[in-house]
Amino acid sequence: MFLEVLLNGKSVGKAGGPDIATLQLRVLHDTRGKSALVYVTGERHGKGGEREQLEWVNQFVHSGDDVAVRLVTSGPGDLPKKAIPLAGPQGTAAGADDSGPIHCSFCGRGKDDVPRIIAGPGVFICSECVAVCEQTLRTQP
Ligand SMILES: [Zn+2]
Repeated sequence: MFLEVLLNGKSVGKAGGPDIATLQLRVLHDTRGKSALVYVTGERHGKGGEREQLEWVNQFVHSGDDVAVRLVTSGPGDLPKKAIPLAGPQGTAAGADDSGPIHCSFCGRGKDDVPRIIAGPGVFICSECVAVCEQTLRTQP
């Protein structure tokens, strides 16, 4: 199963894969209200029990843009933009280093690994990713 994301009627990416059971379209909202980042996440379970969070699309959208999602049952999809390893069964052992449930939804770093972390509804972004977003918004019209 794939999710094709369309921006103003044009395809901007196809997320998913045969081994991805759930896909989630997420919107990170700029609190100043003019733009948002749309991306799709999915989780993959490896044979050894390890888990990986994959991300696709990463599309900036602006007020008034039409964002649509189309279900597609055949591939190929796009390669993920990012793959974040999640703790598998071994990683959850007692005493394992766990920076808590709060981590940047973009780069995956925990709140202790970055200078600041900002919460949104169900998502977090770190100050370093904000700087990257700011730079992107400034350089791309
Ligand atoms: Zn980050």
